Amino acid sequence: MSGNEVYDLIIIGGGPGGLTAGIYAMRAALKTVLIEVGAPGGQMNNSDSVENWPGDEYIGGADLAIKFSQHAQSYGLEIISQEVSDLEPGLDIHTVKLANGDYLQAHAVILATGGSPRKLNIPGEDEHYGKGVSYCAVCDGFFFRDKTVVVVGGGDTAAEESLYLAKLAKQVYLVHRRDALRASALLQQRVNAECKIEIMWNSVVTEIRANHSGVNAVDLQNTQTDEKSELYADGVFIFIGFEPNNTLVPAGTKMNADGYVVTDEKCETNAPGIFVIGDLREKYFRQIVISASDGATAALAAAHYVETRKSAEACELPEALQTETT
Ligand code: NAP
Repeated sequence: MSGNEVYDLIIIGGGPGGLTAGIYAMRAALKTVLIEVGAPGGQMNNSDSVENWPGDEYIGGADLAIKFSQHAQSYGLEIISQEVSDLEPGLDIHTVKLANGDYLQAHAVILATGGSPRKLNIPGEDEHYGKGVSYCAVCDGFFFRDKTVVVVGGGDTAAEESLYLAKLAKQVYLVHRRDALRASALLQQRVNAECKIEIMWNSVVTEIRANHSGVNAVDLQNTQTDEKSELYADGVFIFIGFEPNNTLVPAGTKMNADGYVVTDEKCETNAPGIFVIGDLREKYFRQIVISASDGATAALAAAHYVETRKSAEACELPEALQTETT
């Protein structure tokens, strides 16, 4: 890969948005490559079950990820397993640099790098990561069978993952900083009906403690009374939202105060030919179906953009030749 070959479209990121963009781009006959550093499917791989992907009442997140990937590859989508180190926008052609030193070029780029779990930034969180502190119940829940775990957060993820952990653990304490969950009504009903889950209202974890064999307790503080207490726990699962993975977003691209990229309705940024989709794009809700929808929109818009550019270039050529002969 030396950059000799110019693609119509480069997609960076292989989550539901990127893979859907790949399907639509291949169907639109765009010469396309998708670059993904991890397993195709992105955050879907961390979800125990998905119950709101239309057409599947229930499907495992990793199974859905495989279906997305197989569907995209059935159209011959080229997938490169590499880390992208830089995206340099150009006037006509954009350059994508890879960590191995190679680079690729394309008329249009779709950035679909999603987000990463937000951290609490409290003592013990980084020190005990992987030794009792986790951001993925599906990955690490197995280690806490018949044990006591603390889940931090009050959104859909915290509720879903608490329910998942309740199937394995002896006791789940769901620690939320307010007196009402942000999670959907359905998930709240399920959490309330699960006798293994106890909600610690108006509480924050201020420190994660460990002994020689791993995490053994958390310090809590009541947000109303400031009262401090200690809670025994073998593990701490943190689900307090996401931070956008925006390090590849080129300088000058419009972003909101939280670091999410602002686009138009075609998912195009203020840099022509650079599109941003999925969890990295400013939006109201973050769902698999919404990322997939972004992917379809951006790929169709990119197809239109590339066709327009190519026909403009084709029209410019005779004029240039004409100038040469006069
Ligand atoms: P979220 O909706 O942003 O919720 C984050 C939760 O963490 C909130 O309850 C928030 O408290 C709490 N929080 C944030 N910072 C905190 C801090 N520093 N200390 C303590 N608590 C803190 O994030 P999410 O649950 O990961 O969901 C992200 C998106 O994915 C949402 O749009 C959600 O609907 C979607 N999602 C959907 C499904 C599904 O439909 N099956 C599943 C998972 C996620 P406050 O409530 O006080 O702000």
